[in-house]
Amino acid sequence: YCGMVAIVGRPNVGKSTLLNKLLKQKISITSRKPQTTRHRIMGIHTDGPSQIVFIDTPGLHIDEKRAINRLMNRAAASSLADVSMVIFVVDGMTWTADDEMVLGKLRRGGESRKTVLAINKVDGIKEKEELFPYLIEVSKKYPFDDIVPISAKQGTNVERLLDLARESL
Ligand code: GDP
Ligand code: MG
Repeated sequence: YCGMVAIVGRPNVGKSTLLNKLLKQKISITSRKPQTTRHRIMGIHTDGPSQIVFIDTPGLHIDEKRAINRLMNRAAASSLADVSMVIFVVDGMTWTADDEMVLGKLRRGGESRKTVLAINKVDGIKEKEELFPYLIEVSKKYPFDDIVPISAKQGTNVERLLDLARESL
């Protein structure tokens, strides 16, 4: 089996960190500075008979006043066309207008692919109860096929995302 999986989300939610974790190597640049990833970065995860191309997709959130942003958005949107699954990464502590914008782009996209909400940085959440109201609110916004709380940094539940990615092929 083989296929492609896109990782989308506003800057700083941990897309690049997740890609590195999924691939168990550092191929994507991570940074506190937003929009470090100006280019699409992809990596191939191989195990046994399955190969999955993971695409770290920057740019789906940005406003379209500047021509370069329009181009980046278009590139990001086109990379969603052929994927079997989209991992929508959000920060477990904050939902912003940029998240909403990314979600809007997902709504306009294809319907056959799987969409998984990955709520990242749960390692920073001390009271697990804090996550629940947030989870419920965000999950109401879109009919996600799955919702997975993760820590891209520590690797928590990253294997679960890999399983879902394999199943989507
Ligand atoms: P991107 O802009 O979405 O690609 O985000 P990055 O992967 O570059 O990460 C942005 C910042 O969030 C970096 O400082 C990361 O170290 C941090 N970060 C990413 N994942 C996690 C996580 O699971 N937990 C915590 N605490 N920080 C994270
Ligand atoms: Mg990045």
